[in-house]
Amino acid sequence: MSSAVPGMSGVNGRGPIRAKGTRDKGKGARAGFAEMARGRWPTLELPAHLAALYAGFPFDRSVPDDPVSLVRPLAVDRRSAEIAGIFAATLAIGRAASIRRAFSTWHGLAGCDFRHFVERSARPTSDRAVRAFRHRWIRGDQLAYLGYRLHEIQREHGGLEELFRAGFEGPNGFAGGVDALAHGLRGDDATAARVRPPVGYRILFPSPLESARSPCKRETLFVRWMVRTEVPDLGVWTHIPTGELRIPLDLHVYWIARNLGLTHRKTPSWAAVEEITAALRAIDPVDPVRFDFVLCHTGISGDCPKHREVARCGPCAVRPDCRLWHGRPWPGPPSAQEQPLVAPQTVHA
Ligand code: SF4
Repeated sequence: MSSAVPGMSGVNGRGPIRAKGTRDKGKGARAGFAEMARGRWPTLELPAHLAALYAGFPFDRSVPDDPVSLVRPLAVDRRSAEIAGIFAATLAIGRAASIRRAFSTWHGLAGCDFRHFVERSARPTSDRAVRAFRHRWIRGDQLAYLGYRLHEIQREHGGLEELFRAGFEGPNGFAGGVDALAHGLRGDDATAARVRPPVGYRILFPSPLESARSPCKRETLFVRWMVRTEVPDLGVWTHIPTGELRIPLDLHVYWIARNLGLTHRKTPSWAAVEEITAALRAIDPVDPVRFDFVLCHTGISGDCPKHREVARCGPCAVRPDCRLWHGRPWPGPPSAQEQPLVAPQTVHA
């Protein structure tokens, strides 16, 4: 399997990017997965089928739809990447087109320069146009407060990578890093008492150490963007190993992961995040979230109907591993009358 994505270039035109861990992981990793898979779901063939799914995935179709494609051109340096990234991850709710529209509108309201916007945010801006902004349940006053918190974090810690590392290097590892990020962004410290957060702001940034029910998707997605160097991620953080990342668990990834036997959890909780990541780490210890983008966009594009459907499941590389087809013979390609009439889903969940 090729590890470079044809036609895609790195941040700042650095050329094709390769992941820190996309080569053959050798007998050790395969033996680890075999040990995990023995006698139960997932199947022993899943690593090879996931590799085939990845190799045949149309990145050129899906990357431009993803919010990260809006962040990449703004990532002229690490600080700009962090600021644009956390705004985009915060807005990543709903249909891809509406996320792109919301991010572009917010970028315009921030003067088309997020870094300058944060530098000016010694207090949350009271600009009426900014505060009138809406995207789903996210409001402009909440994003203005996030700008203020980013200003304070830069002053106190230097940036979001330093804040994350302070928690990551503690006893709770990655969960500790997400916890530090959540506390910092929420402003759970003395300085935050000077400016109270708007209603509903704090729940935007849950911590896995406080709320085991939340998969903390915004934070894990943001950290994936910052750490991984392979397209579509930015790779501007250099101190967090890719092997420590956790899967950004939206509903698309959750349902496909359940069908593949990567988790048995009944809800997309932090425990499910750990379980799916552990299964993927047994396949690829160096870069366990390598398949995240592919699984997520297989769901977003509608290529996976999340139920048994001959037309769309036919070309699926992981069909032999999917619980929905377990024990059922493949009936062959669909007739013209059986072709799906369902419109592709474009919802980030
Ligand atoms: S076989 Fe069908 S339902 Fe199962 S993962 Fe593939 S596309 Fe989705």
